[in-house]
Amino acid sequence: MADKKKDKKPRVYKKGRGCPRCGSGTKLAEHKDRFSCGKCGYYEKKQG
Ligand SMILES: [Zn+2]
Repeated sequence: MADKKKDKKPRVYKKGRGCPRCGSGTKLAEHKDRFSCGKCGYYEKKQG
């Protein structure tokens, strides 16, 4: 029954990937095929 994972860590942030809208202080969250900003919703696709 103790199968719940309450280990909710923030998403992994890639270094050097700052949001162009919020500034370099806000890193984009890495997803499967894109990076996205949790603040303003900006995202950009991964290349390659
Ligand atoms: Zn942003």
